[in-house]
Amino acid sequence: MTAIELTVDDRLAWVERQYWIDKDVALAAAEDWLAELGAGEHGALSRRLEVQIASIMTRRGDPSQGATDVQRILRWAERHGELTLQSRCHDVLGSVFEMVGDRALALEHAVATNDLLSESESPLMRAAARLTLADALGSTGSFDEARRRYNEALRLVIDDPETSIRYMILNNLAFTEYLAGNQDDALVAVESLLALSELNNRPIGMYARDTIARVYLSAGRLEEAEATLVAAIEAKPVDFHPDSIAAAQVTLAETCRRRGHLDEAQAVVDQCRELTRENGLVRWATELMREQAEIYAEREDFRAAFQAYRSYHEQSIALGASENEARGRILEAMFQTAESRRESERYREMAERDPLTELRNRRFVDEHLSNLLSLLREGGAPIAIAMIDVDHFKRINDTLSHEVGDDVLRTLGRILTQAVASVPGAIAARLGGEEFLLILPAHDAAAAGALCEKVRLDVAGHDWSPIDAGLRVTVSLGVALAPDDAATSSSLLRAADVRMYVAKRDGRNRVVHAGA
Ligand code: GH3
Ligand code: MG
Ligand code: MG
Repeated sequence: MTAIELTVDDRLAWVERQYWIDKDVALAAAEDWLAELGAGEHGALSRRLEVQIASIMTRRGDPSQGATDVQRILRWAERHGELTLQSRCHDVLGSVFEMVGDRALALEHAVATNDLLSESESPLMRAAARLTLADALGSTGSFDEARRRYNEALRLVIDDPETSIRYMILNNLAFTEYLAGNQDDALVAVESLLALSELNNRPIGMYARDTIARVYLSAGRLEEAEATLVAAIEAKPVDFHPDSIAAAQVTLAETCRRRGHLDEAQAVVDQCRELTRENGLVRWATELMREQAEIYAEREDFRAAFQAYRSYHEQSIALGASENEARGRILEAMFQTAESRRESERYREMAERDPLTELRNRRFVDEHLSNLLSLLREGGAPIAIAMIDVDHFKRINDTLSHEVGDDVLRTLGRILTQAVASVPGAIAARLGGEEFLLILPAHDAAAAGALCEKVRLDVAGHDWSPIDAGLRVTVSLGVALAPDDAATSSSLLRAADVRMYVAKRDGRNRVVHAGA
C-alpha cells in the first residue's frame, strides 16, 4: 500500500480500521502520519489520529492522560462542528468511565458516540459504536437492550472476516448473557464464537476462552470448561499475558474444585498465587483468596476457610478503595482541564469586552476583523463596517456630567446591540471614548447603508429623557466595504473613519457611505 495512491479520507479509514486488525500497526500508522503532518494546525485530521492513539493507550492501561487529551479534542470538535470526531472522542471517554467504574457516565458517552455517528460511516465504525453502547448497557444491567445492540453490531460486520470485531462482539454478548443468567443464550453465543474461529482458522484469545469456560461452568459442563482452559493455557494465544493467564487460572481452579479434584485445584491456586505476586495482580489475588476459601471449605478445614474468607473481604475492600482512588485521580484530571478551560474562556471573554458598555472592545475587533478579511481573501462574503462617533459628546460631559456621559454611552451600547441582534454574525463594538464600530458580514453598500440609516434614526429618536430631561443625542456614521474600499483591517478602518469625518463636516447626524 502506498500512501500516495490513497485520498486522505481513504487513508484515514485505513488507519482507523487497523485498530480492529492490529493495534500495534494502528498505533504506528497514526504516529507516523502525525509526524508526517508536522507542527501546525491540521484541523480534524490530526485530531482523529490523536484520538486513535489515546484510545489505544487508554485500553492498554493508562486512561488518565488520554482522557484529558480527548476531552480537549472534544471541545475543539464541538466548536468546529466536527461530528465524527466528537463521536470518536465520546467513544474513548465512554471506555475511560467504564474502566473507572462510572457506569452512568460511560453510558452517556456511549449514547453520544452513536448519536453523533453518520449513517454514511463505514459498517465497521458503526458496529464499533454499537458495541460500545451494548457494553455500557450491559454493565448497567440493561441486558435486553445490550443484546439488541450486540446483534445490530454483528449484522453490520457479518461479511468482514479480516477484523477482530466479531470476536469481541460475540465474546461480550456471551459474557452479558452469562451475567444475565441466560445459560442457553450464552451457549449460543459461545458456539458462534467457536464456529467463527474454526471457519477463519483463527485462534480465540485468552479472555474469550475464559468467557467460554465460565459459560460452560455455569451450564454445569465442567469437563468442557476444564478442557477449554487447559487448551488455552497451552495454546498461548495473542493476548497470553499475566493478567489473562491469572483470569483463566482462577476459573480453572474453580472448575477443578467443582469436579472434586481438590489437589489439582489447590495446585492451580498455588501457581496463580505466584503469578499474581510476581506481577502485582491485585484483582486476581483477591479472587484467588475466595477460591482458596472455597477449597478449604470443601476439605472441611473451616478454620482455614474462615481465615481465607476474612482476608478475601479485607483485600476486596482495599481493592475497591484503590480503584476508587484511581477513579478519583482520573476524574480530577478531567475536571481540572474542564475547569481551566472555563477559566481561560472567562478571562479571554473579559479581555475582549469593554466594561462600561459590555460591547466587544478594540482588541476583539482587531482579531475578528482580520479573521474575516482572510476568509474574504479565500473567497468568503464581502464585509461592511460602520464607524460611529457621538456628536458633540464633549458638551454632554461638560454641561451635564461625566456620569451622564457614561449613561449615554451605556444606552448607546444597548441601542447598537439591539440593532445588530437579528443580523447573523454582526458585531457591535466600542473602540474607545465615544467611538463605536459595527461589523456587518455579508453586507453590500445598500444593505449596510440601510442598517446604518436605521441606527442613526434609532439614536436620534430614542427617548433620552430618563437620563436627563431635554437631552438629545445624535451620531455620525462612516461606512466602508471590503473588498471594494480596502482589503486590510487598518485601511478599512481608516476608510470608515474618513467618511465619518465627512459626515461631521457635512453637519453631523448623518451616514456617509461608499460612493458618497
Ligand atoms: P464631535 O461631534 O466632533 O465628535 O464632537 P465631540 O465633542 O464628540 O468630540 P471630542 O472628540 O472633542 O470629544 C469626545 C469627548 O468624549 C472627550 C472625552 O472627555 C469624552 N469621553 C471619552 N471617553 C469617555 C468616557 O468613557 N466617558 C465619558 N463620560 N466621556 C468620555
Ligand atoms: Mg470622537
Ligand atoms: Mg464625538
